[in-house]
Amino acid sequence: MRNEILVTRSSMPALEEYVDEIKDMWESHWLTNMGAKHRQLQVRLKEYLGVENIDLLTNGHMALELSLQAMKLQGEVITTPFTFASTTHAIVRNGLTPVFCDINPNDYTIDTEKLEGLVTDRTSAIVPVHVYGNVCHIEEIDRIARKYGLKVLYDAAHTFGTQYKGKGIGTYGDASCFSFHATKVFNTIEGGAVSFKDAEFGKIIYQLKNFGIRDQEVVDGVGANAKMNEFCAAMGLCNLRHVDEEIARRKKVVTRYNERLASVNGIRLNQPQKDVKTNYAYYPVVFDERIFGSSRNEVFAALEAEGIYARKYFYPLTNTFDCFHGKFDAGRTPVALSVSKRVLTLPLYADLDLDIVDRICDVILSCRKQK
Ligand SMILES: *Cc1c(COP(=O)(O)O)cnc(C)c1O
Repeated sequence: MRNEILVTRSSMPALEEYVDEIKDMWESHWLTNMGAKHRQLQVRLKEYLGVENIDLLTNGHMALELSLQAMKLQGEVITTPFTFASTTHAIVRNGLTPVFCDINPNDYTIDTEKLEGLVTDRTSAIVPVHVYGNVCHIEEIDRIARKYGLKVLYDAAHTFGTQYKGKGIGTYGDASCFSFHATKVFNTIEGGAVSFKDAEFGKIIYQLKNFGIRDQEVVDGVGANAKMNEFCAAMGLCNLRHVDEEIARRKKVVTRYNERLASVNGIRLNQPQKDVKTNYAYYPVVFDERIFGSSRNEVFAALEAEGIYARKYFYPLTNTFDCFHGKFDAGRTPVALSVSKRVLTLPLYADLDLDIVDRICDVILSCRKQK
């Protein structure tokens, strides 16, 4: 077990720092329900992310689910299948119909050239995903949304701290949902948030995350319970102090991977994007078996044999999930289907040793069978 290398490793503050942060809770006895830590983290995150408004929730999934509910949508929502289960489930659990748009082969975000053709008179919103920390084609999405009067909710689970054109990623669209899950660039153990433009939307979110309760005698929303508790908020306050340093260390790991893998034929690396300050969230590599000589699954197995656990993110596509059997046709998202069968995300976290990065690259290179 000792030598196993997982795809990620949760960031944690020094134990003393966390103990210090939670100490006053033994005086207040205030453990949840928008306490002091919750309110403090909300202020800090608003500053850090450079957003107008933000609310905190139990996790990124509830942020998505309640945001869609708060937008009072109907009918169809255009999204991509190349994402974590959460994005699609949030749509379906709101009684909405996901309409799957393909991704583009360059940054794996929603293909805006195919997007407009999917708009019908039933479409009410677009839920694009900033996948792997790559930023969607925001201007084009905005143009289409304005033209047809659609809401835009970004799944920004992978883009904590990312900036586009000098502004926080959470300032784009009507709202953006972040995940602070243990495996993400910034974590509150479990947690999430939604940043948004419209103050009225914020009031609805606040109510929906607390059972739909307006005040002590009025309950006028059918809400959930999705309040971030004080221990999670305290973890967030600690981790936020170190997140810039963590991102800088992730950059070193990414740089090393790039040095070792950039010139290898048959491996496509993630490309830097113009006007984007990235957070180095993931390191996806896409194999072209005909050129590289081994398939994604063969490389995955070779790594596994060495105790290195890369992940097949995002395989399978959400439109092929068993729970949707027969409902969708992945043949309509051919680029997503092809990438999902060829992609591997390699281990990446702040304190991943560069020696281990070298070992991982050695295993990958040993799979090469080129003529
Ligand atoms: C992690 C993740 C989510 C869900 O976030 P949780 O905090 O785990 O609920 C949603 N979408 C994407 C793309 C994710 O990676």
